[in-house]
Amino acid sequence: MGKSSKDKRDAYYRLAKEQGWRARSAFKLLQIDEQFDLFRDVSRVVDLCAAPGSWSQVLSRVLIKGESFGRRAWEEQQTRERKLVYGKGGGDAQVVEKGEGQSEGQSDGKEKEYEEHQGDLRPRKGVKIVAVDLQPMASLEGITTLKGDITHPATIPRILQALDPESYKPDEGAGDSGSNPVDLVLSDGAPDVTGLHDLDIYIQSQLLYSALNLALKILRPGGSFVAKVFRGKDVDLIYAQLRCFFTSVHCAKPRSSRASSLEAFVVCQGFEMPKGYKLDPERPVGLGARIPLPPRKDNKDGFVNGQRKTVTEDGIAVLELESDGEDSNRWIAPFVACGDLSAWDADATYQLPKDRVSLDPVQPPTAPPYKRALELRRQRGGFYGKTGKEVRKPRE
Ligand code: SAM
Repeated sequence: MGKSSKDKRDAYYRLAKEQGWRARSAFKLLQIDEQFDLFRDVSRVVDLCAAPGSWSQVLSRVLIKGESFGRRAWEEQQTRERKLVYGKGGGDAQVVEKGEGQSEGQSDGKEKEYEEHQGDLRPRKGVKIVAVDLQPMASLEGITTLKGDITHPATIPRILQALDPESYKPDEGAGDSGSNPVDLVLSDGAPDVTGLHDLDIYIQSQLLYSALNLALKILRPGGSFVAKVFRGKDVDLIYAQLRCFFTSVHCAKPRSSRASSLEAFVVCQGFEMPKGYKLDPERPVGLGARIPLPPRKDNKDGFVNGQRKTVTEDGIAVLELESDGEDSNRWIAPFVACGDLSAWDADATYQLPKDRVSLDPVQPPTAPPYKRALELRRQRGGFYGKTGKEVRKPRE
């Protein structure tokens, strides 16, 4: 699909380029924040699976520069920058001039509010943001970027060191010192999808568990965790496990995420390590894994906040809910659609003016897996796979 065709079919792809975001995912984080006030009292953040870096850009603009992206500000900004609002609906779409249907007075008032809003920057103190990805990521002001694998245990000490280069002590394991330093852990991690739904969902869940195990070691009590999840048929098992560690767990679907996609985000707030629970690198939290929670006398009978955590004889943690007694390892997280209803529809095709010039992406990938294949194609013609093997001869 060409750039300009993608501009029509994917409003958020086009908007990302217009507004200077490295990827359309920026809107997902902004819409989740709009709903859950994610960035309140937050200054230390770890952004996992961060490349090309649009979530890190959001963090940088909100926390370091102090910009605010409330719904109204965002809408105003779009209108102002584009001067035109495009009608929806493909063939029948109309192009509506800015301000149509609005009296002059209203428009002036909004402009003034917008100006005030923009001028009201509130940078925060002591902001530390660490971004991690398998792929190298182009640098961003104020953000420490690490090339690393979130499934590897060696990544945690590197993150802690990046957060506190002076006070970091390599011998002091994260979580042991009681001084866990992070307010918010984000993970937008996604594997290369194969198209085999069950396999993709399984690999995605493993990535989520890696992010969770990492978050459990670095989050401060009360901290938050947001991660991409594919809503497969057993997603309720994941929600139930997350409820063991967080007082509130929601399944959020931003409007910028296509309705047709299984993608959603778990938004977990109020981190609380269950009493007596010891993190064990040999037995990480995961689907089908044992959670070595010691049996607790104090919760044997009593439910706290409608839930009770117990452990079976073979050491499996069970979350029981007051309202259901049958399969208590499952729990459905409340589903929340985020983003204003008037926001762009991620599944709609929009008609654009004929003379519109399509913009280039803000930050092309620095080292895409297909780089070698492109180089060979340029040198020799023909088509090559990721490994450099020729898959099709050049045309005669
Ligand atoms: N949030 C990013 C943004 O706003 O630009 C987009 C993230 S992209 C959808 C998914 C990323 O997950 C890819 O850059 C990929 O390299 C990364 N990823 C996948 N598996 C990973 C792993 N095991 N460790 C670190 N990063 C991983």
